[in-house]
Amino acid sequence: MEKHVVVIYPHPDDESFGAAGTIAKFREEGVPVTYLCGTLGEMGRNMGSPTFANRETLPEIRKKELINACQKLDIKLEMLGYRDKTLEFEDRTELAKNLKLYLDKIKPSLVITHYPEYAVHPDHNALGAAAIEAVEMMPTEDRPTVWAQAISNDFPAVLGKPDITNDITANFDKKFEAILAHQSQAMGVLGQHREKEAKNDLKEIAKQRLGFEQFYIWKY
Ligand SMILES: [Zn+2]
Repeated sequence: MEKHVVVIYPHPDDESFGAAGTIAKFREEGVPVTYLCGTLGEMGRNMGSPTFANRETLPEIRKKELINACQKLDIKLEMLGYRDKTLEFEDRTELAKNLKLYLDKIKPSLVITHYPEYAVHPDHNALGAAAIEAVEMMPTEDRPTVWAQAISNDFPAVLGKPDITNDITANFDKKFEAILAHQSQAMGVLGQHREKEAKNDLKEIAKQRLGFEQFYIWKY
């Protein structure tokens, strides 16, 4: 059993779309989970559907949504306070050193992050690389296992079959609840602008697309 799982992603909602089912499984087993969230996703283009946010209100709104999603997932949250869409310009080693401070304190047995170069968004790639570097800075015997999540369309062709495939359809309700906590983002990301009557269909469609969570075990 894992001792403590640390999830490292840059945006509020990465945890819900990417790993909420896996997180829910760990929480069911009583494993503590901490989310290190890089930014507030304040540069996002989704403003709710129908629109209820604007450029000025988005940071506060996304912060509340993030806290809400983490409450639903019953995980601890640490907001790292970086600026959205700038992580690729941060000094990689400084970023890694900062992440390492958290890892040294929490001492997780497992770290979940994005697979650098295969995670589509520059923030995902940058923070994933920094997380991997942070673990690499630790003495070999203290290093947690790292699960790296690829998102790009071509990743299976290039990287091969992921080491871990979690079928999370059994606790998809929990994942969907966490996704919907990100009210300003959920509908935009799910590609759906109809409300209420479509909710059930929407959930079924999402289940097909997001019912499996896959990771590669990082090899140092
Ligand atoms: Zn993201």
